[in-house]
Amino acid sequence: MMGKTSNHYALALHGGAGAIAGRNYDAVEEHLRNLTQECAALLADGRSALDVVEIAVAELESSGMYVAGRGSAPNTAGYVELDASIMHGPTRDAGAVAALAGFISPVRIARGVMEKTPHVLLAGAGARAFAQSHAYTEVSDPGDYYIVPVGVTRDELTNSSAHGTVGAVARDQSGALAAATSTGGTFGKLEGRVGDTPLIGPGTWADDNIAISCTGTGEHIIRSGGAVSIACAFKSGVALEMAITDMLYEVKRLGGNAGVIAVSQKNAIATLYNSEGMKRASVSTEQALNVATFK
Ligand code: ASP
Repeated sequence: MMGKTSNHYALALHGGAGAIAGRNYDAVEEHLRNLTQECAALLADGRSALDVVEIAVAELESSGMYVAGRGSAPNTAGYVELDASIMHGPTRDAGAVAALAGFISPVRIARGVMEKTPHVLLAGAGARAFAQSHAYTEVSDPGDYYIVPVGVTRDELTNSSAHGTVGAVARDQSGALAAATSTGGTFGKLEGRVGDTPLIGPGTWADDNIAISCTGTGEHIIRSGGAVSIACAFKSGVALEMAITDMLYEVKRLGGNAGVIAVSQKNAIATLYNSEGMKRASVSTEQALNVATFK
């Protein structure tokens, strides 16, 4: 059986459960494939799970291909507000930002909240003040910076209830687990709306047994309990896929849809969803690279 320290590692990424059947995500899959290979190489080199999930999510944010970071849509007041979170399993340290405007990489700022403040979550003007005081990179020209993500039309940015998110979960060679998630939220959201993504518990979770990142309709994920409900079931002996399926069932019952990526201490990977599709990629020392959007 795999010990807590071993040379095994596992990694899964998602680019959101908002994929729409019939649209072409070839470019996204190519991006996920390359990024997963690069991040797996970091894990193979002994880099920590915490560093790797941050690096992966920061790249997903800055690519502009997903509804996160550069690919985010404006709220109904006309500007982009971002949510992100990160969690380190061994210490249960966590950091998050919500309704943050004007910065390039909310996941990096979330890690800053974790490491440089006694708090878990900073929101709105306070998150902005923190990011400014620590010199995180600002968006200098929003009109120029934000672009339409892959699989979305310009009209849908302001005129649909589509959504998207990016996330990463990893187990490193020391046995540490970590998770990170980042989003531009749901299209057409009200100013100040915060979904599951920056909430440690519903959107992102990592402990000694499991690391989880969720995507989907945030209001329903929050009301289902989300990631931590999966972690509790898993800890009490429910099989990984069953624990996730139960949570997804609950999201569906409440009227939403969602996707989940998870890695366990024993290097098991699960990527499950009940939306039309979820952009995803995974690899481990036991599992060959797998990249997909639909079934
Ligand atoms: N969960 C995100 C939110 O509600 C959206 C998504 O994952 O697609 O903000």
